[in-house]
Amino acid sequence: MAFSRSVEMMNALFQFASEGIIISNKEGRIVMANPASERQFGYESGQLADKSIEDLVPRNVVHVHAQHRHDYLGNPHPRAMGKGIDLYGRRKDDSVFPVEISLSYLSTSEENYIMSFIVDITERKRHEKDLKDAHNQIVRLNEELERRVQDRTIELANAITELARSKEEIVKALSREKDLNELKSRFVTTASHEFRTPLTAILSSVSLIGRYSSSEDLEKRSRHVEKIKASVNTLTEILNNFLSLGKLEEGLVQCQLESIELDRFLIDIVEDTKTLLKAGQTIRYQHEIGDACLLLDKQLIKNILLNLISNAIKYSPEGKEIEVVSKIENGLLSISVKDQGIGISEEDQEHLFERFFRAKNVENIQGTGLGLNIVLKYLELMNGKISLVSELGKGSTFVVYIPLG
Ligand code: ADP
Repeated sequence: MAFSRSVEMMNALFQFASEGIIISNKEGRIVMANPASERQFGYESGQLADKSIEDLVPRNVVHVHAQHRHDYLGNPHPRAMGKGIDLYGRRKDDSVFPVEISLSYLSTSEENYIMSFIVDITERKRHEKDLKDAHNQIVRLNEELERRVQDRTIELANAITELARSKEEIVKALSREKDLNELKSRFVTTASHEFRTPLTAILSSVSLIGRYSSSEDLEKRSRHVEKIKASVNTLTEILNNFLSLGKLEEGLVQCQLESIELDRFLIDIVEDTKTLLKAGQTIRYQHEIGDACLLLDKQLIKNILLNLISNAIKYSPEGKEIEVVSKIENGLLSISVKDQGIGISEEDQEHLFERFFRAKNVENIQGTGLGLNIVLKYLELMNGKISLVSELGKGSTFVVYIPLG
């Protein structure tokens, strides 16, 4: 190719390149700048010539740029400028724009020159920023989504727990309903069966009393009055047991604490039970240890004791003694009821607190097998416990334990 032709082509390349091309000497003076570089830096045609290259770098890096230029000339080779850092160009109006610059050099016989190829990367940076924003947005949305999923999972878990609870409640209600129905039908059977004996006794005593009209018959009359009393007591006990259990089953019994003076309170209960005593039976009460002013549910304690004491009376022969002792030790109230009655075999003791259970040795002593089951349920309401020591033919001691406070 002819020399003039290649100069022409090089010139065209310089003139029409879309990259900015600036050639500067070792002092940093611009000797040639193509139109693309003039446009990039906001200069009119020919205005860049003779300017310093430092006029094109941001003001805050002008001083380091001269040093960099000097270093480059010490070891000139083609390379990208400012690797790893963001580079900026400064326009004539002092505004800055991001650039990518690669450096090269050329030597003539007179001087060495630095050639800078400059690409305005404003658009690319904008795209990068848009991309980064979009990425951040996606991360944020993702986090939001995860949070929502988590919230929903918690809501779902709560709903499941709620559902399980409702199911449990329904099952409980159904079983309570079933128990109540069973209780009702048991009552009908028991009433028709157990009521007959005391009612017959009452009837025959009443008709006999009618016959004992003379004053010599006074003793016989009062014996029959006693029999009537005992039979009425039995009827009352059966009715009370069914009513108590019905209330318990329906969840109507709750523990209501009130302050009581224990020994006074127990003396009254024991006094009430004296009307049930058989001939020659005695009952003694004693408070052994501890401050006797307490917070307790009066009704529950009273029902428990009436049950235990009436059993002690019922299952002991005439002339025997019953002993009631209360103690308060280490935040625990204990009340024991001890009798010298028929006792309970070890085998029967195991089932004693089951509903409708009656020991084999009760023979013709009337009862429903409900009392001790009710006692147990009342104690559960107060977080209490019951223990039993018994020997056949010698007697039994029931002790209830109720935690205080
Ligand atoms: P009931 O006395 O109406 O049969 P309870 O539930 O009160 O029902 O008692 C269950 C059973 O425990 C009684 O039938 C009896 O066999 C036995 N029992 C309870 N207390 C005593 C006692 N003090 N002495 C002997 N046996 C007892």
